Amino acid sequence: MFAVPTTRVQLGRLTVLTHGSPDVVIPLPVWQKLASGPYLDKPVLVELVPRSLVRELWARDMGSKPFPGAYAFRAYTRGCKVVLLSDATETAQSLVWLLLHELAHVQVNDRPLLEEAFRSTPRPPGYVSNDEAHEAWPEERFANQMADALAPSFGSRPGLNRLWWRTRTP
Ligand SMILES: [Zn+2]
Repeated sequence: MFAVPTTRVQLGRLTVLTHGSPDVVIPLPVWQKLASGPYLDKPVLVELVPRSLVRELWARDMGSKPFPGAYAFRAYTRGCKVVLLSDATETAQSLVWLLLHELAHVQVNDRPLLEEAFRSTPRPPGYVSNDEAHEAWPEERFANQMADALAPSFGSRPGLNRLWWRTRTP
């Protein structure tokens, strides 16, 4: 897949794949708390990928879709699979916040009532390229709210959203 070694950790319903040596990682107790608490009602796979591999990652998961740029996104979720990018623009706390945000998308995926409720509002123009447009979409507001509310009990803090992150990107 990537030209770096991958380590795999299995904790209950949670599988964590770490590719190469990311600059910033999520502390083990966070994974343990997620896996042992009442949080995951279905198997979830999380991949942690160094941002230096973002082009290879995009080609793997998005095929021929045009590459939106190295700092167009921090993470994405498809079904029950979460991908988090790691580099010096993140901190351990911000990756925890980001994981909680993506787990909100996991909660919505494959739940017909939630999917219909959130996705009946189309993604706004500029959803990928414009931070304000991205954050305005109801599902993103829900995911931010979930991350803000849960972050303190996972050793993180509220507010580590896309607008926070943007000030740290080149
Ligand atoms: Zn999101």
